[in-house]
Amino acid sequence: MLENEVAQYLYHQHAATLPIIDYHCHLDPESIANDRQFDNLGQIWLEGDHYKWRAMRTNGIEERFCTGKDTSDWEKFEKWSETVPYTMRNPLYHWTHLELQKGFGVNKILKPETAREIYEECTAKLRTPEYSARSLMKKFNVEVVCTTDDPIDSLEHHLKLMKEGFEVKVLPTWRPDKAMAVENSTTYRAWVEKLSIVSGVHISNYSDFIDALQVRQNFFATVGCKLSDHGIEEFYAEDYSDVEIDTIFNKVYGGTELTREDILKFKSAMMVQFAQMNFRKGWTQQFHYGPIRNNNSRLFAKIGADTGFDSMGDFTVAKNMSQFLNKLDAQNMLTKTIIYNLNPRDNEMIAAMIGNFQDGSVAGKIQFGAAWWFLDQKLGMINQMNSLSMMGLFSRFVGMLTDSRSILSYPRHDYFRRIMCNLIGTDVVKGELPVSEMNIIAKMVEGISYYNARNYFDF
Ligand SMILES: [Zn+2]
Repeated sequence: MLENEVAQYLYHQHAATLPIIDYHCHLDPESIANDRQFDNLGQIWLEGDHYKWRAMRTNGIEERFCTGKDTSDWEKFEKWSETVPYTMRNPLYHWTHLELQKGFGVNKILKPETAREIYEECTAKLRTPEYSARSLMKKFNVEVVCTTDDPIDSLEHHLKLMKEGFEVKVLPTWRPDKAMAVENSTTYRAWVEKLSIVSGVHISNYSDFIDALQVRQNFFATVGCKLSDHGIEEFYAEDYSDVEIDTIFNKVYGGTELTREDILKFKSAMMVQFAQMNFRKGWTQQFHYGPIRNNNSRLFAKIGADTGFDSMGDFTVAKNMSQFLNKLDAQNMLTKTIIYNLNPRDNEMIAAMIGNFQDGSVAGKIQFGAAWWFLDQKLGMINQMNSLSMMGLFSRFVGMLTDSRSILSYPRHDYFRRIMCNLIGTDVVKGELPVSEMNIIAKMVEGISYYNARNYFDF
């Protein structure tokens, strides 16, 4: 991926050895707190990875080898090894071999003929203390990870790690999506009741509900939380009055299904509410928008959410995004913000939009987030970086995150750094960036790899 000497120089001298700040992921904090020892390569690779399941199904592998409970880890791995040669040109092919190399020092290509020996070699390593969850994080030179947590979570695992002084910072992220999920009154009410218990706030109206959320947000801050994350289909920016929101809350909490208009108004109010809370705490807020979830109702009913049946939506969001950001900016309550799109059609729209709300208070205050999920591959990254470069300041980009559920995914930072160094190195070779300014160019590479995130988040 490093196609010329400048790219190689930038990567090897200025990017490769910098630590990793993984500011958004879905790792299970319990595995880290208990320093989980994985049993075998099949388990660590296949137990929660819906990217791999999706590829296996596409390759004609039966569901029982993806998510089945009655198939062994080896059987699943064997089917994965049959699939790997068919993943050529999909990022899974590169990720798989990067993880084998960087994680295990295995330089073989995975295919049915090599499956047994690779499985045995990696499994033997995984059973040693050098391959426990915490050891792996240190091996990959991870400095900070931010997990993704529900406001009602006890954060007991984060607290345990904090108390023990584990050298990798494992911090929670405030993800209050369930506080907005009023489209299902039954699950909503159940969640609000749990919120009432963990916050100690008796909830009988909207104002109590906000008080309870504030109690939890204060608690998250004491555990080192510095970010919020909001997973939304689209940006919500309906007009509403406080009286309307009180009424809608009473309706849904009383078990009444809401109209579509009620739902949009309530979500719009919560977006602003949370953004104001984020501002008061000085946190960075992230918006991951644009998926359509659980598209396959038959398989959703059978195996549940986050199993590989989500895809890319095509919502029209620019006007609402602008109104939402503007409303906060007008109140002087717009905190540092990162926006991630799932449809690449929106790349230039976001790159242009963020420029409206840069106010000189923080370098790169409003960020266009790294290519995410279906865009988390070579071309997706190149397109995101090019859009950002064309309309914003690429040098101020806070860079890569894994967004992963697996502790073996850190080589995705390497992957990103190589692609980024190749993009810049190629510009130098073509004469589009001056070779005389190599010090500044190297500083840009180091910034995007590591230092920009370090300065921006201030963990
Ligand atoms: Zn995520």
